[in-house]
Amino acid sequence: PPDVEELGRSTWTLLHSIAAQYPTTPSPTQQDHARTFISSFSQLYPCWSCASEFRAWLSKDGNAPRVSSRSDFGRWLCEAHNEVNTKLGKKTFDCERWEERWRVGWKD
Ligand code: FAD
Repeated sequence: PPDVEELGRSTWTLLHSIAAQYPTTPSPTQQDHARTFISSFSQLYPCWSCASEFRAWLSKDGNAPRVSSRSDFGRWLCEAHNEVNTKLGKKTFDCERWEERWRVGWKD
């Protein structure tokens, strides 16, 4: 099985990069693609315990993917990532800054 930490870093890079390039005003079809992607991802992610806990989180009230705009999707992913950060005892990330980190690039 893959290294869970390396897999995680690569995966968050992919997920946040997808959100960073997601349309600002996605069509209904694009919104379906985002929802379907997250759902399939949660079934296929090759760290099974991670995937299972992510599915449990996704199924809770209020945690369904928010895909109505780039900023909604980016915020939602940031919150999902923070949930994992907290579980692992890592610092949470300031979601006001996700776009700066993943789309625009840090200022300094
Ligand atoms: P990572 O958490 O991989 O983050 C990479 C970079 O993203 C950071 O350096 C930072 O710049 C940025 N970042 C951090 N937080 C945020 C945020 N909230 N929003 C936007 N950007 C941010 N590992 C386990 O051991 N157990 C698990 O149950 C587990 N579940 C996971 C579930 C999912 C869906 C994914 C994708 C990964 C999971 N992982 C799990 C892996 C874990 O989240 C980390 O990827 C891994 O521990 C490496 O952490 P890291 O400190 O290098 O930074």
